[in-house]
Amino acid sequence: MKKFWTFLVVTVLALSAVACGNKSEANDVDIVKIAYLPITHSLAVLEEAKQLENSADIRVELVKYGSWPELLDALNTGKVDGASVLIELAMKSKAEGIGLKAVALGHRDGNVVVVSNEIEKAADLVGKTIAIPHRQSSHYILVNDLLNKNGLSIEDVSIVELAPTEMPSALAAGTIDGYCVAEPFGAVGVSTGKGKVLYESEELWEDSVCCGLVLTDEFINSRTDVAREFVEAYKTAGNSLSREEAQNIAKEYLNQTDEVLDISLQWISFDDLEITPEMYENLSDKVISYGLLDNPPSYEEFVKNDF
Ligand code: ZN
Repeated sequence: MKKFWTFLVVTVLALSAVACGNKSEANDVDIVKIAYLPITHSLAVLEEAKQLENSADIRVELVKYGSWPELLDALNTGKVDGASVLIELAMKSKAEGIGLKAVALGHRDGNVVVVSNEIEKAADLVGKTIAIPHRQSSHYILVNDLLNKNGLSIEDVSIVELAPTEMPSALAAGTIDGYCVAEPFGAVGVSTGKGKVLYESEELWEDSVCCGLVLTDEFINSRTDVAREFVEAYKTAGNSLSREEAQNIAKEYLNQTDEVLDISLQWISFDDLEITPEMYENLSDKVISYGLLDNPPSYEEFVKNDF
């Protein structure tokens, strides 16, 4: 009988722990687990985590990943509540039936196409090799936009997928002739003197969408109030990311030199991170026309602004 009561007590304790979810019992703080890569494109959520570190209501637990596939796997399998992620990767997951919503932009602008010093203009890229991190990315879209703008097409160049950290050295070694990737790796290429900027993203695609803050439906549906508070705090953090504060938070998380960050942070901003229907429609058109996805999810299915 004593064993039974011990079993009962343990079971009740275990169940109440489950019922509390991610709520810390000690101080009643809600914890939101967010996956990120150490890039300037995720600075808004890193800033939010810092701003909320002493909050009595809600805190961000940052989970760092080394590559997009690893991060996406964590997001798709519900190991985290959300992520700062290339929006095209999340759109593909959504199209495949994973319950995800994009609730904000990761950043505004913030991409460049870097080329070797021998390339003077877009026409010089014909027959050359350009690296991108992943075909499901705004970097692949920007390379397509660059070629289209200059009367060329993706057929005129060789596209290779390469790990972002390898791109600056591949450019310096002459293995590739250009690349487009999440920052600060473009700035790394420029800082070595082996690469230069051919285009900034806003010259190719106004109001471009690159990374998104994406949350799981499970998190949004089971902890709606927490999700609302989290998204509000995220947008506040984005609006407060002055150049100086962005530099501070990047130094803390990115392991890059001041010179690289100085170059990189001039291309990006974090104000007003709402995803508008116009931005999303433009993105969807490009996703279809450049062959990333045949059937991207609609704005209504995938984007959530109405918390
Ligand atoms: Zn991005």
